Amino acid sequence: MQKNKQILTGVIVVTFALLILANVLHGVLRIVAWVAMIFSLAVFAVLWSRLWRCPKCGKHLGRLGDGEKVCPHCGEPLE
Ligand SMILES: [Zn+2]
Repeated sequence: MQKNKQILTGVIVVTFALLILANVLHGVLRIVAWVAMIFSLAVFAVLWSRLWRCPKCGKHLGRLGDGEKVCPHCGEPLE
């Protein structure tokens, strides 16, 4: 679970980096950065729906708060 969280965080960081790049760059590079950013967002959406699941019951965890360490569906500890 911790590993999946790191992967998702990594993709978000890349997406933000591309967003910043898209605002800094000009011309064709700017378009490339935008396309890469949208692609990265799509990757995040797919990974989030696939990886962000309870290892026990398999249900999607939704938006867990930082303090929440158990599955909201079955109570399985997630760390
Ligand atoms: Zn569960």
